[in-house]
Amino acid sequence: MNNNDINQLVRKNIQLLTPYQSARRLGGQGDVWLNANEYPIAPDYSFNAQTLNRYPQPQPKNVINRYANYAGIEPEQVIVSRGADEAIELLMRAFCQPGQDSIIYCPPTYGMYQVSAQTLGINYKAIPTKPDWQLDLTAIESNLDTVKLVYICSPNNPTGNLLNQDDIKALLKLTEHKALVIVDEAYIEFSPQASVVSWLKGYPHLVILRTLSKAFALAGLRCGFTLANKPIIDVLLKVIAPYPLPTPVADIASQALSDKGITQMQDNVMQVTLQKHQLTEALLGVSAVDTVYPGFGNYLLVRFKPNSSLFNQLWQKGIILRDQDKQIGLKDCVRITIGSAAECDTLIQAMKQHS
Ligand SMILES: *Cc1c(COP(=O)(O)O)cnc(C)c1O
Repeated sequence: MNNNDINQLVRKNIQLLTPYQSARRLGGQGDVWLNANEYPIAPDYSFNAQTLNRYPQPQPKNVINRYANYAGIEPEQVIVSRGADEAIELLMRAFCQPGQDSIIYCPPTYGMYQVSAQTLGINYKAIPTKPDWQLDLTAIESNLDTVKLVYICSPNNPTGNLLNQDDIKALLKLTEHKALVIVDEAYIEFSPQASVVSWLKGYPHLVILRTLSKAFALAGLRCGFTLANKPIIDVLLKVIAPYPLPTPVADIASQALSDKGITQMQDNVMQVTLQKHQLTEALLGVSAVDTVYPGFGNYLLVRFKPNSSLFNQLWQKGIILRDQDKQIGLKDCVRITIGSAAECDTLIQAMKQHS
């Protein structure tokens, strides 16, 4: 078989697929990495369990119980997976018939909702937000036909805004008995007051996604959580891989969710928030910067003045930001992760030298 034969064998939707352009895949060379919303400092955990000859617990009790306790819900309302990314896909695998059912997502937003749907051959409807990056409920309502899942994100990546809680409530009303509403709360620790986790009691079709990758500083661990009422969790347990969480991951996740781990995370959040305010001020003093949007996560969306080429100049200097220019409504925008004080300084100095 030659390469062409192989390509002919590939499923049609995969032939057409552009894979997710993750920060790592996009590459770059440098020493200031502000493109993946990671925490700038590696946390210090070590692996204690000594039972690698055995398969892990499918849903490690300690991790589930600690996360439920941290989130203020019951253990039966939690499932743990290989990052929130796996959860995005599990929901589609469980609820959407390929070629028949659809999902909705609301760009500009996180890219994986679309990529997962495309990978699985599930129809997707992109319903852009309004210019203020709030949900266009009228457009969503008129597109609900065949839709099983509506993915929304708050704080939204990459724009940084929170969604209006009244709009999320209205969306839950529109979708009652029809579709699930998935609220991606990957960055919620940076704006904990905005969580809708307390709404689970009242809404059987609400699903919340969480992760240890952002505020918990554990992107390398690959550990995420889905919060929902038991009937939804039970369905997801049917489709998840038999042993989704390696023993070392469960061990470290459990440490991260101890009282000490949570206190450490809250310290991280305070540091990042302080740094975010300082970076906002500094960016406002850079002549090539047009707008710094208010950001409720660990990143800022910044609009440069037209044709500044600043993104590329910084890239050449090894300061790697995330280009958002191609996303709907985000011409000339970049997303900047809040790094350490030193990284923010390097960034600002380089921006001020820009020709
Ligand atoms: C980072 C991110 C995720 C993925 O989290 P993982 O747990 O690392 O897979 C999901 N949603 C959004 C909006 C993110 O920014």
